[in-house]
Amino acid sequence: MTYVLVTGGAGYIGSHACKALKIAGYTPVTYDNLVTGWKDAVKFGPFEEGALSDRTRLDAVFAKYQPVAVMHFAALSQVGEAMSEPGRYWRNNVEGSLTLIEAAAAAGCLNFVFSSTCATYGEHDNVVLDENTPQEPLNAYGASKRAVENILRDFEAAYGLRHVIFRYFNVAGADEAGEVGEYHRPETHLIPVMLEAIDGKRPALTINGTDYDTPDGTCIRDYVHVMDLVDAHVLGLKWLEAGKGSRVFNLGTGKGFSVREVIDASRAVTNREVPHSEGPRRAGDATKLVSGSTRAEAELGWEPKRSTMAQMIGDAWNWHLNGHYDG
Ligand code: UDP
Repeated sequence: MTYVLVTGGAGYIGSHACKALKIAGYTPVTYDNLVTGWKDAVKFGPFEEGALSDRTRLDAVFAKYQPVAVMHFAALSQVGEAMSEPGRYWRNNVEGSLTLIEAAAAAGCLNFVFSSTCATYGEHDNVVLDENTPQEPLNAYGASKRAVENILRDFEAAYGLRHVIFRYFNVAGADEAGEVGEYHRPETHLIPVMLEAIDGKRPALTINGTDYDTPDGTCIRDYVHVMDLVDAHVLGLKWLEAGKGSRVFNLGTGKGFSVREVIDASRAVTNREVPHSEGPRRAGDATKLVSGSTRAEAELGWEPKRSTMAQMIGDAWNWHLNGHYDG
């Protein structure tokens, strides 16, 4: 068995990554504390419950499986929460990641794939966001991810720990087969919140700000299908296993959708009205985050096949109607 340690494997993106790893012939070992993840989402390999801060537990898991690589998804990831509780973000995302990275280096597991974010870029007017864009995050979430990127660079210099850093744009959709999906409690992300409003599970979607400097006044984001995103991770793992050097890749499609455009697309896909109201801006939000890089396509051979807005909303809707976790 070729094991890959997947932190956050019980969460949204991590569980989809476990599926992609299994299909690619690896055995994903989920390491998760189940604070935001679900045991029901662990379907593709062994589960080891534990916290990133628990070095003894991490050492035991590295010794037990001797994984060829780490894929590190476990993190707190909500912009709103990061603004009101920055300490939790620094402690969990930075201190927790540091403990994991130290354990990996000590175990000689020197291939590391890291989930970073376009939130590390911050606000840049009329600038194409590529991997060389200066990182000036607007919130503790982006700042915590940028800090971990820097830790990885230091650990490469000191211990030869090689990394692939993926800076995600907005991840959406669900496994087409419906085995795993997006399930946060509480839910804060645009598409699942909107689907809950469509389905009467909440009164309405509130648009966070309508006075941005964009054509329709709402924020613009670049949405990528979660199964396309995790395909890139498998390619990143193979890149490291082939002995290629540490590298940063944006993962987005290069197409921007405003919040109002996502609402319109959801109405079209579900054939239902989207109850919504207009509210104030959410602190920490950048006006526009759209990838301006094709490095992942050019160098990894990544091909986003499912990242149309219609398919992302369709797969999320299918999961919303048919899938859920109990625990
Ligand atoms: N958004 C919104 N209402 C909501 C949730 C999100 O208007 O109930 C907006 C949010 O302010 C941002 C975009 O939708 O402009 C995407 O937000 P999300 O939280 O899904 O992802 P983020 O960009 O924070 O990673």
